[in-house]
Amino acid sequence: MSGTGRTRVLVLNTGSSSVKYQLLDMADASRVATGLVERIGEDSARLAHTPAGGRERERPGPFPDVAAALRAVADELAADGTGFDAPDLAAVGHRVVHGGERFSGPVVLDDAAVAEIESLVPLAPLHNPGNLDGIRTATALAPGVPQVAVFDTAFHTTMPEYAARYAIDTATADEHRIRRYGFHGTSHAYVSRRTAELLGRAPEDVNVIVLHLGNGASASAVAGGVCVETSMGLTPLEGLVMGTRSGDIDPAVVLHLARNAGMSLDAIDTLLNKRSGLLGLCGDNDMREVTRRAAAGDGAARLALDVYTHRLKKYVGAYTAVLGRVDAVAFTAGVGENSPVVRAAVLAGLGGLGLVVDPDRNTAPDRGPRFISPEYAAVAVAVVPTDEELEIARQAYDLVSP
Ligand code: AMP
Repeated sequence: MSGTGRTRVLVLNTGSSSVKYQLLDMADASRVATGLVERIGEDSARLAHTPAGGRERERPGPFPDVAAALRAVADELAADGTGFDAPDLAAVGHRVVHGGERFSGPVVLDDAAVAEIESLVPLAPLHNPGNLDGIRTATALAPGVPQVAVFDTAFHTTMPEYAARYAIDTATADEHRIRRYGFHGTSHAYVSRRTAELLGRAPEDVNVIVLHLGNGASASAVAGGVCVETSMGLTPLEGLVMGTRSGDIDPAVVLHLARNAGMSLDAIDTLLNKRSGLLGLCGDNDMREVTRRAAAGDGAARLALDVYTHRLKKYVGAYTAVLGRVDAVAFTAGVGENSPVVRAAVLAGLGGLGLVVDPDRNTAPDRGPRFISPEYAAVAVAVVPTDEELEIARQAYDLVSP
C-alpha cells in the first residue's frame, strides 16, 4: 500500500454463527489482516485476528449477534490502524450465497439490491439472512464505503436454459423459482481462470472441468471461460458426494421417508444435509480420516471413498461429453488440493479420455498451482489452490475502481 488512493478491500463472509474476514491490498494482492469470529451467540464465542506478519490475537465474546461480532472486528482492525473507516478502504466485499437469476456479476449494494437478496431468503434460508446481517452492519460501520455483493451463484448464470431447467412442470417451477443455480461460483471462476494461466493460454481458448472438493463439493464445466454446467442445483445439496451431504439421490427417497418412515421434512433435511455423504456412509466426514481408515482395511471407509470417487468419475465423464473437448481437469479446495488418493481414484481408468495422473507428480508435496499429468498427456490434469477471498476482493475492486 502506497499510502495514496483507495486500494484495500475488506472481504466479509458472514454466516449466522460465524464471520470470516480478510483485508486485502489490491495494489499487490497482499493480505493485510485475516480473522474469524466463531460461535456467535454462544458462551464460547471468540474472535481470532491475525495482522500480516504479526501474531494471532484472541478476543473472547460474548458476541450475541453478527452486529456485535463485526463491531469487534472493526475494533481489532482499528487497533492495527486500519479498518472500516480507514481512508484507503475502496470497498467492503460481501460473499452472498444466493443471487438467484438476477445477479450475473458483482453489484454495488443499494436498497433495491438488498431487497432482492432478501427476496431470495426462501431459496437460501441458512445463508442469505447471515449475509444480510453482515451487509447491514458493515454499511452502518462504513457509511461512505461502497458495499459490494459477490454471489456464489453468479458465475453459473451463463448455463444454457436446458442445463438450468429441471424437467418438472414449468408453471410450478417458475412460480417458486425452482431451477438449477449452482454454488461455489467464485471458486469455479477463479480456478478456471488460473488453470488457463497455468496452461499459458487465454481463458477464452480453454475448456476446463473444475472439481471443487471441500467439505462442500461441486463440479463445473467451463467452456472458454463461461460456465456451461455445474453439479449443485436449487440448493447446494445436488451433485457430488460431500462431507455430510448426499449429493444426487432419487427424489422419491424423500417421499418414501416421509410416507413410510414417518420422518418430518425437517428430519429429512437434516439427514440429507448433515448426516449423509462421507459421514453417513462411514461416520467420518474428514477425508484425511476416511482415507487413513480405508488404507488400514476399514470396509465402511473404503466403501465411502469408493462411492465418493465413483460419483466424481461419472461427473468427469458427463462433463467431458458436455464440453466435447477438454483441455484440463483442475482439482481444488481441501480434498482436491491435498488428497492424491482421491485425485488418482477419480481419474483411474480414464486414459481412454486422455486423462492420466503421473504418480510422482500427484504425490509430490508441492503446494502451488501445478500439473499432475505426465508431459505427454492429451488432457492436462492440474491442482490449482482456490482463493475465494482474493477473487471476491478483485471483483469488488474492479467494480468500484475508476
Ligand atoms: P475446505 O472446505 O475446502 O476447507 O475443505 C475441508 C476438507 O478438506 C476437510 O473436511 C478435509 O476432509 C479435507 N482435507 C484437508 N486436508 C486434507 C488432506 N491433507 N487430505 C485429505 N483431505 C483433506
